[in-house]
Amino acid sequence: MSRGAGIVVQGVSKVYRLPGGKADRPALHDVNLTVAPGEFVGLLGPSGCGKTTLLNIISGLDSDYSGTVRFTAPDGAASFRPVIGYVFQEARLLPWLTVRDNLRLVLPARGKETERDARIEAWLARVGLEGYGDYFPGQLSVGMQQRVAVARALMIEPDVLVMDEPFSALDELTALKLRDELLALWSETGCTVLFVTHNPLEAVYLADRVAVMSPGPGRIVGELDVAAHVGRPREADDPAVWRLSRQAVALLRSTERS
Ligand code: ADP
Ligand code: MG
Repeated sequence: MSRGAGIVVQGVSKVYRLPGGKADRPALHDVNLTVAPGEFVGLLGPSGCGKTTLLNIISGLDSDYSGTVRFTAPDGAASFRPVIGYVFQEARLLPWLTVRDNLRLVLPARGKETERDARIEAWLARVGLEGYGDYFPGQLSVGMQQRVAVARALMIEPDVLVMDEPFSALDELTALKLRDELLALWSETGCTVLFVTHNPLEAVYLADRVAVMSPGPGRIVGELDVAAHVGRPREADDPAVWRLSRQAVALLRSTERS
C-alpha cells in the first residue's frame, strides 16, 4: 500500500518563546537526521531533550524553527509531500465518539459509505479489535485505545509514521505485544517509521537504526546501526539486542557529563 518516504532533517534548531518576556527556552540545537524510505528509525533521548518538539517539526505541526526538513519520494525524487501518520503518547481519541466513528473521522468522505465501513472493520481486525467498533474509548483498556490510535494513523496509508512514546503508558506485557504488532504492520505497509522513546531496549528491539539525543537542547550525539547486528524477526531476549541497548545507555550517559 504505502511506499515510504525518506526524511532529511538538516540543521534544525528550535527555541520556545515564553510568554511575559521570560527567558527563551532552547529546545533543539542543530539536529541532523536522515531516514531512508521504508526505514524504521528509533529516536532515543531523555525526558525534555526535545523529542516531541522534533516530531512536531517533522510532521508539520510546528513551523516555527530554523533549519530545513524535507522528504524524498520512494523513487528518490528530492521534493515530496508525504502523507504523515502521527501516534501520540496518549491515544487522543474523541471520548464521545465510538471507536468506529473515531476512525471514520480520518477517512475522506468520498466513495461509498459501505466501503468506508469495510475499511474500518478491516483495520479493527488488523489491530486485534474485531467487534469493538461500537465501544466508546472509555470502555477500552489503555492498550486497546492505543491500538485504535495505531489503526487511525495507518488507515490514511501514510508514507511516514511518527510515533511519540506510543507504548510508554502501557504495562510491559501489553507493550511487548504491541511492539510485535507494530513490526508486523510496518513490514506489511512498508511505510517509514520514526519512533520516539526514552527506553533504550525498546528502541533497539524495534529499529533498524537508533539515533541518540543529548539532554535539552537536544542534538543527535550518536547512532547505532542495529540492522547490521540483529536480524528480523527479533527476540526480545536476544543477547545482541541487550548488548546494543547497553551501548545506547552508554551513549546517553556520555552526553550527561558533557
Ligand atoms: P521530550 O519530548 O524529549 O520530553 P519536548 O520536546 O516535549 O521534550 O520538550 C523539550 C523542551 O522544550 C523541554 O524543556 C520543554 O519543557 C520545552 N517545551 C516543550 N513544549 C513547550 C512549549 N509549548 N512552550 C515552552 N516550552 C516548551
Ligand atoms: Mg515528549
